[in-house]
Amino acid sequence: MKKGDIIIISAVAAAFVLSIVLLISFSKQGSRVVIKQDNKIIYNKSINANETVDTGTNTVVIKDGIVYMSDATCKNQVCVNTGKISKKGESIVCLPNKVIVEIE
Ligand SMILES: [Zn+2]
Repeated sequence: MKKGDIIIISAVAAAFVLSIVLLISFSKQGSRVVIKQDNKIIYNKSINANETVDTGTNTVVIKDGIVYMSDATCKNQVCVNTGKISKKGESIVCLPNKVIVEIE
């Protein structure tokens, strides 16, 4: 094997690995935000909706493909401290207020 061949094979292998990584990260990117309150769906829109949703007890911010709970009336503030989510399958749960934010 020539030195040039090794470089080409390495480059192809690197490109292959990179494309798989991109594919996986792309497929994990969520497309919709679903907010449930008392087991009822109260919101179901694109993750790019750029909206602030007030459930009456919790404030959910959807901005540039990132979702987070900016404010909540619950005492433990676990939901607010969950931070930002953006990937499929991730969720923010506020048990005291029975509010669940899921990314699908
Ligand atoms: Zn909470």
